[in-house]
Amino acid sequence: MEIHPIDAPGHERVVEFKDTAHGLLGYVAIHSTQLGPAAGGVRMRPYGHPTEALNDALRLSRGMTFKNAAADLPLGGGKAVIIGDPAAEKSPELMKAFGRVVQHLDGQYWTAEDMGMTPADMAHIGSETRYVAGLAEGDFASGDPSPITARGIFNAIRVVARHRFGTAGLKGKTVSVQGLGNVGWHLCHLLHEGGAELVVADIDRQQCARAADQFSAKVVETDTIYSAEADIFAPCAIGGILNETSIPLLKVSAVAGGANNQLATDADAQRLHDCGILYAPDFVANGGGIINVATEILQVAERQAFVDLRLQALELTMDRILTRAQAETVSPHEVAESIVQEVLRPQAA
Ligand code: NAD
Repeated sequence: MEIHPIDAPGHERVVEFKDTAHGLLGYVAIHSTQLGPAAGGVRMRPYGHPTEALNDALRLSRGMTFKNAAADLPLGGGKAVIIGDPAAEKSPELMKAFGRVVQHLDGQYWTAEDMGMTPADMAHIGSETRYVAGLAEGDFASGDPSPITARGIFNAIRVVARHRFGTAGLKGKTVSVQGLGNVGWHLCHLLHEGGAELVVADIDRQQCARAADQFSAKVVETDTIYSAEADIFAPCAIGGILNETSIPLLKVSAVAGGANNQLATDADAQRLHDCGILYAPDFVANGGGIINVATEILQVAERQAFVDLRLQALELTMDRILTRAQAETVSPHEVAESIVQEVLRPQAA
């Protein structure tokens, strides 16, 4: 196993790891440990180039600092990426090798599930390190975080609806959902129960068919979800999808979803604002997952109470962000970033 430091300005510590025996290659990026040990999931994707993977780790780890701070958790921001196709290249040995990387960082970074990962993978990682969460079994096991992530997004959608339409009720409202994976599926369930009409898209045609069947969802092509007739758009697949090409296509009044790093650039927050589209900052909307994971890292005995309380607080934070954005006529993203900077600033002194 080779673990090399990488110089990345703005980040506390970044390492590249390579274990040719097990075909493991990737990066751990620790953005900040100011509020506590860096926590953030590990993602496995068939990145086209190592630089692309490194950039993803850098962006996502910074996002975790903001997400953890916004959720008022005593955790810093970190993220790991593994280069490879999870469907074809993931194995228990690969996961164990990654577990040794996490152990090498000696508690500075805690890992958990992200895209392409399951609780079973976390168990393999956990055979090599204690700095892993999202386990299915164990004293403080928190399991799959996606149902809690979806609850947080659902709450955010209701807050957005109240600000935009004067009522948090979703009956008669249409929500377009991009991605019907772990998060998107649970979210569709909550939205359907809440009386919303659904328009959905996923590259997985079977998932689309299931959504049509279970939630009477209208299925559209993956490239037409942006222009779908809906009130609120909930991106729950990949990052960077709110950009100069997609934003002009949107017909919705608001965007609130679970995908990390939805904005391709900070300028896209302003672009949405200029189009009169209310944007719920992703790192606040999707904080439910890390709240769930935090119960395991922090070994919280009263798990349910902790989760409920933090989800309520997150909802209030979203409300505060949207209220302040309206009062200051700036984008909610700008307000959310500055609220987190306010949390981080006094600690830096
Ligand atoms: P997942 O892999 O289970 O689901 C992603 C889904 O998106 C899949 O069904 C996939 O087929 C679909 N998809 C991929 N590309 C698409 C495209 N171009 N158009 C339409 N659909 C597409 O992942 P997940 O756990 O549901 O996470 C979804 C997003 O939410 C990710 O950005 C993740 O980082 C973020 N997130 C997840 C959690 C969590 O608890 N799982 C927490 C916070 C943030």
